[in-house]
Amino acid sequence: MKIAIEELAGCSGCTIAVLDLHEAILDLVEAADIVYSPVIMDVKEPPEGIDIAFVTGAVRNAENQERLKKIRKNSKVLVALGTCACYGGISGLSMMSNREEIFKTVYKGVGTVKEDGVIPHDVPEFLYRVFAVGDMVKIDYYVPGCPPKEDRLKEIILPLVKGDAISLSRKSVCSECDRKMGEVKDWTLKRRHVGIPDRDTCLLGQGYLCLGPVTFCGCNASCPKNNIPCHGCNGPSLDIIREPCRDIHNLMVRRIADLTDIPKKDIEKELYDVAHTMYAFTMGSEVMEDKEISKIRDVISQEGNR
Ligand code: SF4
Ligand code: SF4
Ligand code: SF4
Repeated sequence: MKIAIEELAGCSGCTIAVLDLHEAILDLVEAADIVYSPVIMDVKEPPEGIDIAFVTGAVRNAENQERLKKIRKNSKVLVALGTCACYGGISGLSMMSNREEIFKTVYKGVGTVKEDGVIPHDVPEFLYRVFAVGDMVKIDYYVPGCPPKEDRLKEIILPLVKGDAISLSRKSVCSECDRKMGEVKDWTLKRRHVGIPDRDTCLLGQGYLCLGPVTFCGCNASCPKNNIPCHGCNGPSLDIIREPCRDIHNLMVRRIADLTDIPKKDIEKELYDVAHTMYAFTMGSEVMEDKEISKIRDVISQEGNR
């Protein structure tokens, strides 16, 4: 069994997460040969005849696009590994700035470059938008997470390389959270730096924008368990992916309306103002943007562009 891990526009954290399997990495290397991974080894190009390839990162430029097509052609099974690959992830946030702004920030605006930094002209051509890998080629399995957590990787990668059946929970982060719904009164939307949340009751009920109800499970609700609202890094829950009339924004409006006595239109307005927060991990997904009720198009055009 030959496996490969390709890197596109991302931070390589998903590949590091594979190395972080601890002793389970021994099971992985016993069952499979890692024949290509630019992060782990000095191999420049993927060989032919790969059994399972994992792709991390989104498609931002022409080189990413070419690499994705090549690894698809060379592999029997292609797995989108991590939220950047599945939905654009944080790489998709670059849709909120245009090319000139991005290049100016990267090559001139950060503290580690000189003020007279040069913007290069020989970098790969920028595409007009960020793409999730499934927007460009056929994907056999999606493994979201930023990065996917160790337990989830064990549940997926090991059975996959051993040819065993994969069995996973398909619920939302709320299903893994043990907070109770306390009494909800005088609900107002709070920014996450405001106050210290009660540790036992639901963060959403306390006014914090916790995206647990609309986010795919698989992290053991690690943020709410540490008193931090979920910001959706596992990507959308399955009902949102499957149903054209369901979207992150409208399901959060519905959830808050169920909890409070605030009219839906007021909640809609308030959440619209923080829509960029709700779509932080999905902005680069055409599938999510194409939903008729999605606010992603508004967020991108408000902020200015592609
Ligand atoms: S999903 Fe997260 S960890 Fe993986 S490449 Fe993207 S930013 Fe990095
Ligand atoms: S909304 Fe957040 S805090 Fe409330 S149950 Fe869901 S994950 Fe837990
Ligand atoms: S709780 Fe939410 S933000 Fe935290 S790891 Fe899980 S999906 Fe990501």
